[in-house]
Amino acid sequence: MKKKRRLEIARVKGHSGITGNELADCLAKQGGTATTAGPAPFLPIPPATSKRILAEFWDKEWQTEWKKYPHAKHTKLIIPKVGRWRNTVKLTNLLSQEELCLLIQVVSGHGLFRGHVGHWKEELDPTCTLCGEDAETALHLWTECPALELERLQALQRGGDKVFQLLDLFRSNKVTRLMNSVLDSDEVEE
Ligand SMILES: [Zn+2]
Repeated sequence: MKKKRRLEIARVKGHSGITGNELADCLAKQGGTATTAGPAPFLPIPPATSKRILAEFWDKEWQTEWKKYPHAKHTKLIIPKVGRWRNTVKLTNLLSQEELCLLIQVVSGHGLFRGHVGHWKEELDPTCTLCGEDAETALHLWTECPALELERLQALQRGGDKVFQLLDLFRSNKVTRLMNSVLDSDEVEE
């Protein structure tokens, strides 16, 4: 310690209302009740670390259950890793009922797509109306359909979460028209 600095040592009564003393008391209490880990001397685990460990643990459990689940083949193709969708699930609170309805159709594959409806309506040709190359499924439209290259690029350039990119593509004029055409074919027959 430098010579010029004056150091005074004094005995202070506990709980005497001195700010520094109260603060030290408070921190000591916090340290004493915190969960500890590792070899001695023990260090408390910061709340952020506990949160991360828990999130990682449940993501792992969630992923194992998702892998074991025998159904939702289409959804698994769009969502292979469930943990990555954690933030997306939160974002669904921001969606309107209409947007949520469309998102569920896209993610589950159970929507107004010829490749899906054609499973039980034999008279409906399941081939993609836009390209004629493959079955018209949500996955085909989202990942492969050459007729939607521009719309797909525009949706990707929009950036942000995948949920908004999906919605952008499926709300584009071309896709809206083809989904409505499946709905119209249903109404005509009824
Ligand atoms: Zn196509």
